[in-house]
This record gives sequence, structure tokens and C-alpha cells, in this order.
Amino acid sequence: MTNLDVEWAKDWMRRSSDTLTEHRMELIDLDRAIGDGDHGENMARGFTAVIQRMDEAPPEDVAGVFKLVAQTLMSKVGGAAGPLYGTAFIRASKAAEGDLDAAWVATLCEAALDGIVTRGKATTGEKTMVDAWTPAITAAKAAADAGHSPAQALRAAADAAAEGAEATIPLKATKGRASYLGERSIGHKDPGATSTAYLLACAADAAEA
Ligand code: ADP
Ligand code: MG
Ligand code: MG
Repeated sequence: MTNLDVEWAKDWMRRSSDTLTEHRMELIDLDRAIGDGDHGENMARGFTAVIQRMDEAPPEDVAGVFKLVAQTLMSKVGGAAGPLYGTAFIRASKAAEGDLDAAWVATLCEAALDGIVTRGKATTGEKTMVDAWTPAITAAKAAADAGHSPAQALRAAADAAAEGAEATIPLKATKGRASYLGERSIGHKDPGATSTAYLLACAADAAEA
């Protein structure tokens, strides 16, 4: 039941860079269906830059890792996802204090969602990354309440985010670029909800390693 630390945070970002690069084409294809087809490129490029900067000047704590991620994504990733994930990681950075235990995993997801909502004004059911972060919070809280470890809370959050991403398929987009398609956005999985599920799966993988 070890708490999360800076080595976990760095490992999370390395795994995210690898995973988003690996799934670059899949995210591009999802975004081609209901957007402009750049989400995979945006995320892979953004997290590659994160790792470069992290290697140049390794942060000393979890807050420092999240701050570096936020600044890099804000400056290197255009479009919607850069500012949205950037704001999420800024909030996560501010929330990274005290014991980084299972209950904190819920705090982390709440902080991220709070940033995304402040920036993008979306609510659940609008076919965005909000539909992945929201169930992640509930699942992390339940895991913490059940006395599970931080790694288990992260795994529960990641699985819930993946389910949330799948559940965007029948939804009609009412926020972001996909909303321009109206009814034609129905039947496709949201790229941002999908990348959120990958990010949280990497956080869980890093905690289990
Ligand atoms: P862009 O649409 O500018 O090309 P990306 O393709 O990188 O940006 O990211 C698209 C993703 O951003 C969408 O799949 C969705 O999950 C997310 N998104 C877009 N607008 C919003 C919003 N207002 N609130 C939350 N998430 C949003
Ligand atoms: Mg796009
Ligand atoms: Mg774009």
C-alpha cells in the first residue's frame, strides 16, 4: 500500500509518451471521423516534448512533474486538447500535496476535471473527455472507501475512464469541433475521452510497476 511519489509521476509520463505514440494512428482515425484528425499527432508530439523537458531538468516532486506537463502541453499542443489537458495538469499540480494515497487519486481526477470544465464548459453527456474523467472520480472514490491501495484506485479510475470513453459512442457531440457534425457525430468514440483513458491506464501501470 505504498503511496505515490515523484518516481511514479515520471514513470507515468514516460508510459504516456510511449502509449500515445503507439496509439497515434488510432487517435488520428477517431478524430478524423468527428473532428480534424490531429488528436493523435497533438498528444504524441506533446508527450514526446514532455519527456525531453523532463530529462533536461528532472522535477523534484509530483507537483513539479505535473507543472512541467501543463506548461509543455500548453505551449506545444494547439487546438482544444492542449489547453484542456494543460489546465487539468495545472490543477493536478496544485492538488499534489500531503499523502498521495488512494483518496488522493480521486482528488487528482477531481482537480483535472475541474480544470477541464473551467476551460471548456462541458458537462457529462456532451461527448468529450469529461465523459472519461467523471466516472474515473467515482471509481477512485469507491476504491479508496473500500480501503484499496493507490495503485488499485488508479486501476479502477482507468477502467472507469475506458468504459466512459466507450459510452461516448452513441452520444451526440455538443461541445468542441465534433459538435459541428451534430447527429453525424453519433456512432463514433470521442478521441479525447479515449486519450484520457490511455493516460489513466498509464498512471495505473506505473503504480503497479
Ligand atoms: P481540436 O478539436 O482543436 O483539433 P484535439 O483534436 O486535440 O483538438 O482534441 C479534441 C478533443 O478535445 C475532443 O475529442 C474532446 O474530447 C475534447 N474537447 C473538445 N472541446 C471540449 C470541451 N469544450 N470540453 C472538454 N473537452 C473538449
Ligand atoms: Mg482535432
Ligand atoms: Mg485541431
